Parts: sequence; C-alpha cells; structure tokens
Amino acid sequence: MPLLGSVADDFTGATDLCSMLVRNGMRTVQLIGVPAPGQTVPDADAVVVALKSRTTPAAEAVRDSLAALSWLRDAGCRQFFFKYCSTFDSTDAGNIGPVGDAMMEALGCGFTLACPAFPTNARTVYQGHLFVGSALLNESGMENHPLNPMRDASLVRVLGRQTPYPVGLVPFATVERGAGAIRDAMTALKEQGRHWAVVDAVSDAHLFAIGEAAAKHALITGGSGVALGLPENFRRAGLLPVLADPGALPMVHGATAVVAGSCSRATLQQIGIARQSLPVLQLDPLATPDAAALAAQAIAWAKGLLGAKPVVVAASAAPEQVAALQQKLGREAAGTLIEEALATVAEALVGLGVRRLVVAGGETSGAVVTRLGVQSLRIGAEIDPGVPWTYAEGSGVPLLMALKSGNFGAPDFFSKSFAMLEGAAA
Ligand code: ADP
Repeated sequence: MPLLGSVADDFTGATDLCSMLVRNGMRTVQLIGVPAPGQTVPDADAVVVALKSRTTPAAEAVRDSLAALSWLRDAGCRQFFFKYCSTFDSTDAGNIGPVGDAMMEALGCGFTLACPAFPTNARTVYQGHLFVGSALLNESGMENHPLNPMRDASLVRVLGRQTPYPVGLVPFATVERGAGAIRDAMTALKEQGRHWAVVDAVSDAHLFAIGEAAAKHALITGGSGVALGLPENFRRAGLLPVLADPGALPMVHGATAVVAGSCSRATLQQIGIARQSLPVLQLDPLATPDAAALAAQAIAWAKGLLGAKPVVVAASAAPEQVAALQQKLGREAAGTLIEEALATVAEALVGLGVRRLVVAGGETSGAVVTRLGVQSLRIGAEIDPGVPWTYAEGSGVPLLMALKSGNFGAPDFFSKSFAMLEGAAA
C-alpha cells in the first residue's frame, strides 16, 4: 500500500514532486486526473494525482481535490500532501486556501503547514515573505503573470485572503532551531486556533527539519521542496525500506522519437542542437494551417526513418512565427491546431513502433498523454532536474515517456535522454 498520497494542482508540478520523492527513496507513480473509483492502486510508496486545478474555479478545484483525496485514502495512504507551485500561484479567490481547507476538513486534522520554499530553485521564504532569487515575489516578474499575478509577497496575507481561518507563521529563528522547535511552534499555533502556519525555509536543511517536524501531520502543503524530508520519516518509522533503485523502470525496446510543441527558449536551443546529429522535421503551420494535413506530412516523413536514430518532429518556432500564426488563426486556435497535430503524430508514431518518446512542452505533453490514453506514469531516473523518464501505462503498449516542461533540460537534452536509456540497457 502506498504511504504518501498527494494531490498536485498541475501536471508538470506533479512530475516535479514525483522526481523529488524518487530521488529521496520512494517508488512513485503519477496518476493523470482523478482516478476512477475501481482504478488499480499502483505498487508504489507514493502516489501523486496530477490535476489541472491551479486556475479552475475554486469550487471545481475543491471538488476534484477531494475526489482525489478520497481515492488516495481508500488506497491506504497514511499521509497526504497538497502540492502547488513554488511561486504560490493563486488569486484571492483561491485555489490554495479553499483546497487546503477542504482537505483539512475531510481529514479532520484542523491544521496544516504551508511552505512553497524550494532553495535549489531559488525560492525561499523568510518572515513569511516569498523570494524568487533576491527579489520579493511581487517584484520577481510574477506580478505580471497572465493568470495569477502575485502582487503581495507576504504569504500570511495572501493565504489569509483565501481562507476564513487565521494564518500563523513559524519564523526563521524557530526553524533554525530544528525539528523539535518547529513542532512545538506548530502545536502552539494550533492551540491558538490557527488552521494554517506558513513556515520559513531558506535552505534544504530547513526543509528536512520541517519534514521531520510534520511526521505526524495528516496533511502537508507546499512546493516539491518541502517533500524533501518526508521519505526519511517513513524510513525512521520502519515503513519504508532503503531501496537500491527506487526509480527502476521496466526495460522497453523499440524506436525513439521526439515531439516538440514548446516554443520556449530552452526547447528552441535543444532543437537547434538536435539538428546537428538527428533527423528533424520542422512543421510549417503557416503554410499548412490544418492539423490533419500537418500530421500526415510528419507521419509520412518519419515512417522511413524510424528505428535508425531518434526522429524529431517540431512545431516549435521563434516568437515572430508564433505571433504570425496567432494573428492568422487567433491565439487559442493556433495552440489547439498544433496540439492536435502533434497528438496525432505521437499516436501514429506509437502505432509505428515508437516505444521511447520525448515530448517537449507542458500543454503539448497534456495533449499527447490524453490522446494516447495514458492513465499513469511510473517515475524513473531524472534526465535533467525535474524531467524523469517514466513508464506510461494505459496506451495499450509498453512505452517510456519523458515529458519536458518547455524551459527545462540542458541544450543536448534530446540525445542525452536516449543515451541514458542505452546506458541503462548496457
Ligand atoms: P511550454 O512548456 O514551453 O509552455 P507548451 O506546450 O505548454 O510549452 O505550450 C506551447 C504552445 O505553443 C502550445 O499550445 C503549442 O500548440 C503552441 N505552438 C507550438 N508551435 C507553435 C507555432 N509554430 N505557432 C503557434 N503556436 C505554437
């Protein structure tokens, strides 16, 4: 039975948490969307349900999160984690406060901590204020976020506007004194009637101490950073053995391919590097603004090349070309056209024998995973920080997938991904 059950408010954030848990010794499976009532419980130490609830109306986010929580409880999980973004992406309408409150109520625990800190990625919390690098959250660029502009760096205030319950703070000086002091501070806040405690953290040592202090908490909320200390609690309690390879995946043989829909700078660079050694097809949606026709071109091109080397099919384009297509079709229609085309390409490639598939782009990954019918991803070793190989279940064939959020990965990410599998096979 899984030990830790998590509800994550978006897809790539869920993968990020999964990677953190595998790195710290838990076999982890990510489920896509609220699991069906009878869905098989994966053989894993941690299960992370990936929702798309970051920016949906609060009532919808609460409904989906509670459904996921209920499934995780039935699956036997002993502790629960609500994962959100390390920049605390939310508005005064939610969804962090409403979802956390609803989960607390369902679990009957009446108290939880909130810690989005992730020092490795330069997210730190000091005196309840969230910093991105050296800038306060509201001066970090996040104040201009299109969906959830973050205009206040005080998480006590931000959260206070999202919940009817009082929010407390466990400050830096207490966190510095270690797990015992943090535990006492949280107990005192709970006794004072606080339902939430924002907890400061500026280093991984702090995150480990917070994790230890929360060993007996039913619910923990935060970014993936605060999950750092949780696996050790289970080992200490004798519930989790020390595993030689918690990210072990079944070996899968077959052709290799990359499907890229991200137009982020990192992905454009990765495609540029791939051109030096791999066959790359650049789709031209301006010339062929038709998803089926674009996909047909790509499938015809890839057919003859599969097997020898990884093939790369990219819609990714520089900002001027993206703007041109958006002007022609409208922003949303342009995105949907490409997602539809790339999902069709991915489906056809798997039909033609591709068994190791890299997808570049968050939305693109969502479209591909949905089209392939993937329900769960067993998390393997990381290729680059935040991007693991995964074993996908639900598509009907054995399939390894790496789903890369646009800006992630080193310049040679694509060849590196496949080289890693060859290394594992050797
Ligand atoms: P990222 O993770 O980099 O944000 P996403 O896949 O989430 O990548 O988003 C990229 C979006 O851009 C997708 O909706 C995709 O369909 C769209 N897109 C890809 N190529 C083009 C293009 N040439 N013109 C316009 N939009 C594009």
